Amino acid sequence: MRPDILNPLFTEVEALKGVGPQVAKLLKKLDVTRVVDLLYHLPSGSIERVRAPSASMALLGHIVILDLKPFQTRESRSGRGPMRVFASDGDGNTISLVYFNNPGWAKRSLPIGQVRTVSGKLEQYGEEWQIIHPEVSEPGKGVQPAVREAVYPLTEGLTNRRVGELVREALERAPELPEWIEPSLAARECWSAWRTSLALIHREPATADARKRLAYDEIFANQLALLLLRQSQRRHRTAPLPGTGELTATLKLPYQLTGAQRRVIEEIRGDMAQSAPMLRLLQGDVGSGKTLVAVLAMLTAVESGAQAALLAPTEILARQHHATLLGQLDGIGVRVAILTGREKGRARDSVLMGLADGSINILVGTHAIFQEKVAYKKLGLAVIDEQHRFGVSQRLLLASKAEYPPHLLVMTATPIPRTLTLTQYGEMDVSRIDEMPPGRTPVETRVISEEKLSDVVDGLGRHIAGGGQAYWVCPLVEESEKSDAAAAEESARILKLRFGDGKVGLVHGRMKGPDKDSVMARFAAGDLAVLVATTVIEVGVDVPNATLMIVEGAERFGLAQLHQLRGRVGRGAGKSTCLLIRSQNLTEVGRARLSLMRETNDGFRIAEEDLRMRGPGEILGTRQSGEEAFRCATAEDVETLAPIAQSDAQLLLDRDGGLSGPRGQAARTCLYLFERDQAVGLIRSG
Ligand code: ADP
Ligand code: MG
Repeated sequence: MRPDILNPLFTEVEALKGVGPQVAKLLKKLDVTRVVDLLYHLPSGSIERVRAPSASMALLGHIVILDLKPFQTRESRSGRGPMRVFASDGDGNTISLVYFNNPGWAKRSLPIGQVRTVSGKLEQYGEEWQIIHPEVSEPGKGVQPAVREAVYPLTEGLTNRRVGELVREALERAPELPEWIEPSLAARECWSAWRTSLALIHREPATADARKRLAYDEIFANQLALLLLRQSQRRHRTAPLPGTGELTATLKLPYQLTGAQRRVIEEIRGDMAQSAPMLRLLQGDVGSGKTLVAVLAMLTAVESGAQAALLAPTEILARQHHATLLGQLDGIGVRVAILTGREKGRARDSVLMGLADGSINILVGTHAIFQEKVAYKKLGLAVIDEQHRFGVSQRLLLASKAEYPPHLLVMTATPIPRTLTLTQYGEMDVSRIDEMPPGRTPVETRVISEEKLSDVVDGLGRHIAGGGQAYWVCPLVEESEKSDAAAAEESARILKLRFGDGKVGLVHGRMKGPDKDSVMARFAAGDLAVLVATTVIEVGVDVPNATLMIVEGAERFGLAQLHQLRGRVGRGAGKSTCLLIRSQNLTEVGRARLSLMRETNDGFRIAEEDLRMRGPGEILGTRQSGEEAFRCATAEDVETLAPIAQSDAQLLLDRDGGLSGPRGQAARTCLYLFERDQAVGLIRSG
């Protein structure tokens, strides 16, 4: 249970003065729904204003604070143009205050003949000096414009001043919290207490120490949660699965394992032979051959008399894995079944029965395979494919449920920069496949302006006339799955007009599962030449004859995501091409990002550079694909602070494993503050 002391932080923003449903709705657009969200709604910068007794040439272009006396208003006749209030400063200069909307408000706040403090950017307009949409206050009453003010991320309808006021109120309500940081560390870094640091970070100029402390807090909560997760997983005992080599020896492969595959399978087998459950992350770029490693690990489990389960993030991928495994394992007497949300009725019952009586050796499926109703006779190994949809919170959730954890192998193709591995996978041991199967030709990547789209379509025509297949990936439309689908439908319509209905297929996230699968199956069988898709094809799909990929609106994708997409081609022996279509008005950073894609096929390098190009000081706040999101911490913070936080959290657990002493209790508060409630459930009792 969350400690009472945090209650004021977790109340809804409506509890604040003057926040009704209307303002709450606007705040929600900024992801602010509770008081704590306001506290962590951090300034993105600051503005400086110049306080001056009167306007002058020297002040043009500056944000000024002036005391002015309005003497005349002029509204546009049509009612559409701006409204102007003419006001004079002490020296007899006239400044025109311009409002494009809300003339009623302007008239009320700038009464003729009364001095008002006005602030805004002083500009020259023809012969006049003007300020557009100045902020106005009554001297000595209410909020006065500050010379320096924090600037917040805003949304239409909320002014900076209003957000600032709300933050101040939230700060007043914030309690002092017990200190969870090791005293010697806080002293060495000169860090203030939590509440003081928050107050400092909202004050301009913000101090670097305050920011760093707040970053440390969330990294500490993250590291403590991961250590608790590891501890609770390792505390359990499970059946050792040493394997016999019988099945793996009979498995017929058309190729030799790469050195890297051989090394990682040894690491995995070493873990599986222990009675402490394995907790291993397998990282390997797209196409590096992780599936085969999983198959060998699962066979080792089966040899040892246990069952294995393979969890895929999507239905499409589950079906594909199922087909691959059937092909490889049917001949050697291993029984493989599939279970997704779609298996119903008798088919489902028969799978459930086969799992319970142990006649099914390997189960492939989506999240359905870990549901309560699914009872295994003896689940020995769980493999989770494409980890990036299965973040820390999901792992915590799973751990808080599992009484007898099986050996766990998590596989990801998302190249995580080294700096982030600790915060993303801190509880796991890591194996890396750092070598590609031989004979791959790197994908040739080109960046092409959207003006040349018709040439691209011509090229696509030649490609499919020669018997080739291609992916056409549609731009991501922000925050709206619906419009993603609409954009994809539009592109598919155009391509169908050009190449014929029967040649072009479409898949997007809004389609029903069976419809999606049948389109995928027709593409895999070569019946369709072009597959138009949104990012649903991002993970795992394997059609070696598709050697051309066209990505519309490429700049809107994350680089790591583009790299994943590109991994769909270049899977066969033939040479593959990826065309990144960029919009005409691309920023310099946008250009640099895309040319990096052109330069390298190395997923790790792309991830590292992507992180670097996000810019120093940029907060790791994107919760894309389930990765850990921070509100204050930047990549640099993670790099410098995560190792410290990890050893500090470890030290605390060594001294006080039940987190029951004063600092332990404070650390619990920290976990709750960052909503790691599940981690608290993993603390050892007694
Ligand atoms: P990913 O790591 O992206 O999951 P896959 O397991 O799908 O990669 O493997 C990509 C392709 O490489 C598959 O077609 C697979 O059969 C092939 N492959 C895997 N291992 C080897 C190997 N040692 N030699 C040659 N080809 C391999
Ligand atoms: Mg894969």
